[in-house]
Amino acid sequence: MRSPRQPAALVALLTGLALVVSATPASAHRPAPEKVPVAVGYGGAVSTVDPDATRVGLEVLRRGGNAVDAAVAAAATLGVTEPFSSGIGGGGFFVYYDAASGQVHTIDGRETAPQAMQADAFVENGVAIPFADAVTSGLSVGVPGTPATWATALDQWGSIDLRSALRGATDVARRGFVVDQTFADQIAANVARFSAFRSSADLFLRRGAPPAVGSVFRNRDLAATYDLLARRGVAELYTGRLARDVVRTVQDPPVSRRSGLVVRPGLLELADLASYHAPLRAPTLVSYRGLDVYGMAPPSSGGSTVGEALNILETSDLAALGTTQALHHYLEASALAFADRNRYVGDPDVVDVPLEQLLSDGFAAERACVIDPSTALVKPVPPGVPDGRYEGCGAAATVGTEGSDGQSTTHLTTADRWGNVVAYTLTIESLGGNGIVVPGRGFLLNNELTDFNFVDTQNGNDPNLPGPGKRPRSSMAPTIVLQDGKPLLAVGSPGGSTIITTVLQILVNRLDLGMELGAAVAAPRASQRNTAAVQAEPAFPRADLQALGHTFVDTPEIGAATGIELLPDGSFLAVAEPVRRGGGSAAVVDRR
Ligand code: GLU
Repeated sequence: MRSPRQPAALVALLTGLALVVSATPASAHRPAPEKVPVAVGYGGAVSTVDPDATRVGLEVLRRGGNAVDAAVAAAATLGVTEPFSSGIGGGGFFVYYDAASGQVHTIDGRETAPQAMQADAFVENGVAIPFADAVTSGLSVGVPGTPATWATALDQWGSIDLRSALRGATDVARRGFVVDQTFADQIAANVARFSAFRSSADLFLRRGAPPAVGSVFRNRDLAATYDLLARRGVAELYTGRLARDVVRTVQDPPVSRRSGLVVRPGLLELADLASYHAPLRAPTLVSYRGLDVYGMAPPSSGGSTVGEALNILETSDLAALGTTQALHHYLEASALAFADRNRYVGDPDVVDVPLEQLLSDGFAAERACVIDPSTALVKPVPPGVPDGRYEGCGAAATVGTEGSDGQSTTHLTTADRWGNVVAYTLTIESLGGNGIVVPGRGFLLNNELTDFNFVDTQNGNDPNLPGPGKRPRSSMAPTIVLQDGKPLLAVGSPGGSTIITTVLQILVNRLDLGMELGAAVAAPRASQRNTAAVQAEPAFPRADLQALGHTFVDTPEIGAATGIELLPDGSFLAVAEPVRRGGGSAAVVDRR
């Protein structure tokens, strides 16, 4: 461990001073911090999509904070530097390995629907409203869960208070950070709708366009909002002034009349915010090739779907089968697990999710039985029947359809010198959330309620229709793998429903196909979510799989993962994307 007087802290201090000295007008340019996709060393590790967030998390570790403290500090910084993917206007799922007890805990920080929301909330005149209309609306805003997640994590397992955890992020918001290509691109993708809301245009646009790459971007409103949370606690967002501002923005979206945009108001009331809580939930757990794989339970489908697919895959020796058969099994197991996810997984407080059966070896054997090594199954496949009676190759008679999911979100991973590990995925759903910055507060609202299915997709049995106080089903899959009770690795990714296949593919790459974690993350991805064609990155090798009957549709990139592995010599291997979404930022406290 380094004391605050030793070199690392000095460097951090000097970096901070350099920041003050160079705090120049918004038009000034300075070099963006370097992005490093792989780092190995000791003393703890942080991996996020963004160098400022990683630096802030690392500084917390250097000052003696633990993995939970660092995760909250890094997440708060992502709210500044990656505001289109996450922030206090959204929600997420926090998975934590506690070294002292050897237990894995999770926090469900998912947004909730207003009490006034009914199953047909997204239906008008008998038809679902256009998805894009729902995205940019007040109607799609759920009660934010991220502030409650941070408070709960710090209360339960942190060693610093919220004020300290927010300090680094507040500095970044106030002093500014360097706009990189990803930040500019993400604004460019949102110019039309940001222009429609004065609060969003004022914050993110410069004469109607994204700020220049290399310019310094400040968010003083968000700095003041973080100050408020630091002083008064997160209750400010659930019962205080911030709550009133959120409700006003949702009920009466500040859309400019000139934009011509129809922006439906939302149903959120102060009482919805006041009754929010972020419960601790038991993690999902499956054993895979002698390892224990922990994930996020419903309302996320991450843990159950990754877990079921792993159980299906475990019935074959993938390493012995060779790459083509391993990938064939990976695609088939994904499709089968997605059919079951779509049919059975929703908010466990509202629907009866047969989680134990979905994660049972008997059910996996029944599902695995339909995989044919010589031919791809016709998709979509029907869901199975997780009823505890497993003989042969059972399946339900009717096939459902896949609902829609967003393309945004962020995942971060932290580990500390005491052996605690955090895998935390958070989101505001679409890239740019609902497009509306809460006036004067510096953050975007989520559109998470578009994760509900707008109409029944499961022949009268849809577990994911809207409902009062209900949490929409998520795909977020923060995952921690233990070996003999100690962390081996932690991983996660953004990407809507592709999150599940990204995490699964990384685990297969790492645990079955012999890749190191960095290579497992960088490898070309393919995603089969029980649809006719497999989505695949251009570099994904497909000829041998096509010969088995798989069809492919190209997509430029899938996911943006981060992860950390604990190596046998006690060092940390921190991993981020080398290329996807502009590359991520992995770091360790003491480089080897
Ligand atoms: N809202 C999505 C979910 O919870 C995540 C959005 C995304 O990753 O794009 O599954």
